[in-house]
Amino acid sequence: MVSRFPESETHLSWGRVLRARHRIARPSSPEAAEEALARRGGLSVLAFGLGRSYGDSCLNPDGLLIETRGLDRLLAFDPTRGILRAEAGVSLADLLATVVGRPTPDGGVWCLPVSPGTRFVTLGGAVANDVHGKNHGVAGSFGRHVRALTLLRSDRGRVECTPEHNGELFRATIGGLGLTGLILEVTLQLERVEGLLLEVEEIRFEDLEGFYRLAEESAGWTYTVAWVDCLARGRNLGRGIFSRARHLPGGAEHVERPGPPRLSVPVTPPLSPLGRASLTAFNALIWRRLGLAGRRVRTVPWHRFLYPLDSIGAWNRLYGPRGFWQYQCVVPPAEAPRAVARLLETIAHSGQGSFLAVLKTMGPLPSPGLLSFPMEGTTLALDFPNRGSPTLELLARLDRIVLEAGGRLYPAKDGRMPAHLFRVGFPNWRAFAELVDPAFSSAFWRRVDTADERAQVMELAA
Ligand SMILES: Cc1cc2nc3c(=O)[nH]c(=O)nc-3n(C[C@H](O)[C@H](O)[C@H](O)COP(=O)(O)OP(=O)(O)OC[C@H]3O[C@@H](n4cnc5c(N)ncnc54)[C@H](O)[C@@H]3O)c2cc1C
Repeated sequence: MVSRFPESETHLSWGRVLRARHRIARPSSPEAAEEALARRGGLSVLAFGLGRSYGDSCLNPDGLLIETRGLDRLLAFDPTRGILRAEAGVSLADLLATVVGRPTPDGGVWCLPVSPGTRFVTLGGAVANDVHGKNHGVAGSFGRHVRALTLLRSDRGRVECTPEHNGELFRATIGGLGLTGLILEVTLQLERVEGLLLEVEEIRFEDLEGFYRLAEESAGWTYTVAWVDCLARGRNLGRGIFSRARHLPGGAEHVERPGPPRLSVPVTPPLSPLGRASLTAFNALIWRRLGLAGRRVRTVPWHRFLYPLDSIGAWNRLYGPRGFWQYQCVVPPAEAPRAVARLLETIAHSGQGSFLAVLKTMGPLPSPGLLSFPMEGTTLALDFPNRGSPTLELLARLDRIVLEAGGRLYPAKDGRMPAHLFRVGFPNWRAFAELVDPAFSSAFWRRVDTADERAQVMELAA
């Protein structure tokens, strides 16, 4: 049967490496989404939010993508308790424009409880990846703040899920990579804060020990994150700049729906300007940014600290036509210092560097999802320009270090992790697989779920 859904080859994920053909549905109401699902014919289905996942978890080659941006209504907001109910295509940027900054009854303001490093993600996408932010130590992952979900299943129609009611499906959908059905609505508990200004302190550290010392002494701060110089070696290995921040009163007037960014990359350059020479200059500049003192304190609007990359539109095009691979892992606390040192050494020796190199500690608050990525430990996130096999070989070397340390990779950032690494890192995957909607699939899931077990064991042994 020829599908009546239009075809698209332009639905890319953020890393722009993987290109595929899809059929596209753009429902503007839950009823239209139901109709699209009913009319899918033999096509497999996947939701597509704002495409801010980097690899293949938001792609479904030769299948149907249901774009959710038309499901964008804020359905209810209780200003006393800070609970909102919204359709799943509402973005965090939309919430900044509507409810974030509204006063609480006791003189504070309502704020997103958890936010990733960009506000251009949908609620559905934030749930499906159980995203984490710079406040993981105090808030845990996004899913901890979700009170209820309305899910559309191909086999059961609409299903209301809360931790108590259809709890298994609730836990499978949080961090469930869009595979348990289409999320129609999300009920979210906002966080009460003093205000939307932040006191931000930045401190230079000379090595990984310095990073861990600062992470430990910053336990009382709400947000912590570090940039690490991934070109540094020897006694400078793991040097970087640590940032910590906490809320101050005021600043609600600064939070508004963003207009077009002041800077934007309008087209993809034929050659990426992000080469080795520019990375060396960039890292030297950042490293010296704090001057002789090596420390500075500033007051900044909350969203500027949370979303530094949002000020440059379509920055992912800077990596040129071949795109880039993002690599994000988390390794447990006991293994973390050694594993992170090995990862950074391997990268520094490879001759391939990353402009974005973020080091964060994750706290002990458990994530609710069966496949949630966040766990206690240290997470390292890097962007590598795609140079073909040398890049893939480097990432495979990093995989081995993560595997030996008992860590896992973040599916939202991944487009290549071998199935065995996924299965070892996410031991609940079998229980999860039972709850996958029979009509739903993704490129990511086909890669990690259907791989032959014996081949995996051999791959592991190789
Ligand atoms: C600059 C930048 C910084 C980032 N920083 C962080 C960070 O700090 N922490 C972090 O955790 N992540 C981070 N991310 C990743 C991003 O938060 C996640 O990939 C997020 O899920 C993207 O949301 P989206 O709406 O774009 O969803 P998409 O990327 O379009 O889709 C992501 C997944 O959600 C599913 N999905 C989307 N909508 C629905 C729905 N309605 N029902 C069911 N499934 C659905 C899709 O099928 C897919 O599996 C960052 C990304 C960028 C580009």
